[in-house]
Amino acid sequence: MGKLLIVGTVAFDAIETPFGKTDKILGGAATFIGLAAAQFTLESAIVSVVGGDFPQAYLNLLKNKGIDISGIEIVKNGKTFFWKGKYRNDLNSRDTLITDLNVLADFNPKVPFNFKNADVLMLGNLHPKVQLSVIAQMETKPKLIVLDTMNFWMDNTLPELKEVIRLTDVITINDEEARQLTKEYSLVKAAQKIHAMGPKYVVIKKGEHGALLFHKDEVFFAPALPLEEVFDPTGAGDTFAGGFVGYLAETENISFNNLRNAVIHGSNLASFCVEKFGTERMEELSKAEVENRLDQFKQLTQFDIELQ
Ligand code: AMP
Repeated sequence: MGKLLIVGTVAFDAIETPFGKTDKILGGAATFIGLAAAQFTLESAIVSVVGGDFPQAYLNLLKNKGIDISGIEIVKNGKTFFWKGKYRNDLNSRDTLITDLNVLADFNPKVPFNFKNADVLMLGNLHPKVQLSVIAQMETKPKLIVLDTMNFWMDNTLPELKEVIRLTDVITINDEEARQLTKEYSLVKAAQKIHAMGPKYVVIKKGEHGALLFHKDEVFFAPALPLEEVFDPTGAGDTFAGGFVGYLAETENISFNNLRNAVIHGSNLASFCVEKFGTERMEELSKAEVENRLDQFKQLTQFDIELQ
């Protein structure tokens, strides 16, 4: 059983999809990552910041999932990070309507003492300066540093983001963002350029079309499970990342073969996340449901062709 340290936003989200809209609900990259990783046997902690307006019930929810929340700072007279997004009809593309950094704007992260030797460091989506500070606070070099980011930080903080990318082993990024970062349309070429920036492994997420794992000349592809109901894709990318690092922390094996399994676990958990608004589905998810769907994944991808 390994130790997983997660840094990322713990947030309020307001979401609009073709099926309905929500007021401010629980969201944030670290929240989704933490809930997904909680499906595995590991020790985990979140480093983040919230304002005095953040309900204690949300913090309790994370704590009750076994996540160490001592690294979530509460700024009493500040406001929690707020994000509002609206999905187009295909649910594959969305527009960000509001990003209010609030307390995140001048956040100084503090890694809990017990997690300065974490095996896996998951740098979830937030300011690259915060991600760099967390890397600097680690007392032992993590076996694996995984980075997730988004276009917002490419647009606003590219030099710092490139420095984080240089220090990471694995980057998870969606197809549009990979193209924006490398100015390459071909995802194979984009992955090569990202390799050259630092990460040995590049995971490119393609929403309902699955995810690709690149390592040197090798590529592995995991489909997304074709679902009857897709309600709200928010947090699917983070849930994928949470499943990916959760599995790696539990198994303490970072071979390419095991990273392939991790991609499947990430895809499996992400398939649940999208079935309800926000974190709702992930809060109630049982181990039996997860196992059952893993089996469906196996059926979906198994074939028996004899090569001559
Ligand atoms: P995903 O759908 O996986 O890309 O992640 C959605 C989550 O990311 C939401 O819960 C938001 O609170 C969070 N989020 C949105 N924009 C940002 C940002 N610029 N930095 C960090 N987290 C963000």
